[in-house]
Amino acid sequence: MSLIELRNVSRFYISGKEQKKYALKAVSLSFPNKGLISILGKSGCGKSTLLNLIGGIDKASEGIIYFDNEDISKFKEKDLMVFRSQIVSYIFQHYHLLEDQTALYNVMLPALINGDDYKTANKKAKDLLNSFSINKELFNKKCADLSGGEKERIAILRSLINKPKVILADEPTGALDKNNAILTMETLKKMSKECLVIMVTHNASLAEQYSDRIIKMSDGRVTADIRINNIYAKTNRELPKKHKTNYRWMNKIVSSNFVKRFKRNIFSILSLVVGLVSSMLIFGFSNGKDDSIVKSMERQFDYGTASICKENKIISPDSPITLIQTMRPSYNEMQEIGQACNDFRICYSYDSLITSFPTVSFNDKQIDNFSYSPIYSFSDASINRDLLIKGKIPSFDTLNQVVVNQVAYRTLNNLFKYDSLNSVLRIKEQQSYSLATGDGEKPYVTDYFVFDRLVQIVGVVKEVEFLNSPKIFYSYLAMDDYMNEAVLNNLSVYLGDTTWKDAVIDSMDNDPLSSYSCRLFLKDAQKISSMKSIKNIISEQYSVTSNGVTVEETLLTLVNAASVGMEVFLGIALVGVVMILGIISFASYNEDIKDSAILLCYGATRDDIAMIYVFESIMVGIISVVVSFLVSVLITKPINLLIERFTSLINVINIPFLEFHNRTLLFPLLIIGATLFICVIATYLPIGFSKRISLKEELKAND
Ligand code: ADP
Ligand code: MG
Repeated sequence: MSLIELRNVSRFYISGKEQKKYALKAVSLSFPNKGLISILGKSGCGKSTLLNLIGGIDKASEGIIYFDNEDISKFKEKDLMVFRSQIVSYIFQHYHLLEDQTALYNVMLPALINGDDYKTANKKAKDLLNSFSINKELFNKKCADLSGGEKERIAILRSLINKPKVILADEPTGALDKNNAILTMETLKKMSKECLVIMVTHNASLAEQYSDRIIKMSDGRVTADIRINNIYAKTNRELPKKHKTNYRWMNKIVSSNFVKRFKRNIFSILSLVVGLVSSMLIFGFSNGKDDSIVKSMERQFDYGTASICKENKIISPDSPITLIQTMRPSYNEMQEIGQACNDFRICYSYDSLITSFPTVSFNDKQIDNFSYSPIYSFSDASINRDLLIKGKIPSFDTLNQVVVNQVAYRTLNNLFKYDSLNSVLRIKEQQSYSLATGDGEKPYVTDYFVFDRLVQIVGVVKEVEFLNSPKIFYSYLAMDDYMNEAVLNNLSVYLGDTTWKDAVIDSMDNDPLSSYSCRLFLKDAQKISSMKSIKNIISEQYSVTSNGVTVEETLLTLVNAASVGMEVFLGIALVGVVMILGIISFASYNEDIKDSAILLCYGATRDDIAMIYVFESIMVGIISVVVSFLVSVLITKPINLLIERFTSLINVINIPFLEFHNRTLLFPLLIIGATLFICVIATYLPIGFSKRISLKEELKAND
């Protein structure tokens, strides 16, 4: 019984016009389990083809090859790997060593692939190298730096480490000088006592000198089969051991690949870092924006003021239109509201008399778009003193002193080219009102409201600037006092001393003097959150308008829209990053296709090979994540400061490094997980789905 048997085996290639060109034609041979068998023949006669078919590197077109009575074409991928790592072993014509790795490591590799741990493989390899008297200096030399003879010996020793049953040697002496050729033949001869050695050569004299049997070939056919020594065809059936999966053997290859492609990997790292850092910033933005806007918007000096009016819905049964009439709440209603929301003061509004935009002038020059807005009092807890950045807030309530916001301050400075703090503005408002006298003969008189005052800017407050306009803040209490003393000359003739305040209080709901609303002032600036909840407290018939809250809500809507936009672009960018990574890995894989084929020949699986590139990507991923964390930690602050400068939004970007959804370190873990997932997918998919060419072609790749 023979170990290997070929029955009518042919291998043909289809040439141009669908014509079969036979590299091997109807070869039937059988091989025992020991001895040195030489295959002799001219170049191109099919020797390598025969060897490749026996070794499972190529597939027969016709006929069957039996190994130990099993048809090798029926081997599954796993069987084939066991076959290649434990049963047959190749000594290639062109050595096919991993040129970037050391001699020692090349010899160790088949053992490592076969599941040996590093220590065992290292010992086996060293023992083997020593037993063949290989100079120790060669052990740690890179194969690329070895001479032809040295490479040949390393290639031979590599084929021995797993104690294979069959050694297939393709012209092992072809590139060697005479001494080295003899040395090689001696080695093969020695090995052939233990196992079957099939050697291809065109050196007839060496073949005759060493072989137990010579098979001569010509034109793809066997022309002679000469037995020199009798070798017995005897096999003792030994089932192959299981192939162990152990990824540790890849470490060295992965790290040397990483170094070999350092520049390319730096490029991958950069593109990943760009992707990751922008993801984190955008995520930080989505995460931090709401808080930031709320916090920043609360930095409005008049955030605590609002106006409140009553809405009277007029629904007509015949019309789809609902009319809403706004009215000022009555005195009693104001009391009720005041009780319901006790964080607020409910006051009469003087908006009809002194509008938000009176005429403002500075040095006799009129300034547009400056608003004149009330805050309750300069001297109590209703204002946020932390916002003051220049000058002071008056210590008592007076109309003579005002505070301006930064936009106003800067506008004035730019207009007049000097520091406008402590300078004087003129506020002017003039209106006329017809007021009821209660006198039947002359039911109405007209009074003129004239407000013309010089006010000194004593302080500047820092407000959020985005969406904010120049504002001059005055004290409502001082205005209330003023209205209390400002007498209506004409009406007083009929009603006795009547002040503008009286007129406002007495005005009817739909009277222009009522301005259809009253004012709300927050009692304590600390309780700013009640500004937003006020709508929930009061009954539905009232509507509250707060400039601060409106601006805040507008900004939230805008920023939310921007954030969604950014997330979409980020998604697209990430797809780009994945593709770049995939392309780079695939290029690397293609570049190394020959090295991979060598590993496959020594029993590595296709998945093992893909894992080499996946691990390289994972290294890239891990470095990228670390760099990205550092970069984003470092740049978040400056970016936030920059955004604050232009928009006054504080800490918009808030990357939740330490805690996310109440879980410690959840966010960094998610980022690491996502990155590694991306790296694995981007690498594995293109390699996994790439077209597979035969091992034989792959071994020739890049030659
Ligand atoms: P040897 O090793 O004896 O020099 P080979 O076994 O390498 O010869 O090749 C045998 C024949 O098969 C040659 O004529 C060669 O041109 C042909 N051959 C080998 N590989 C291919 C291929 N991929 N496509 C077409 N012909 C091939
Ligand atoms: Mg050949």
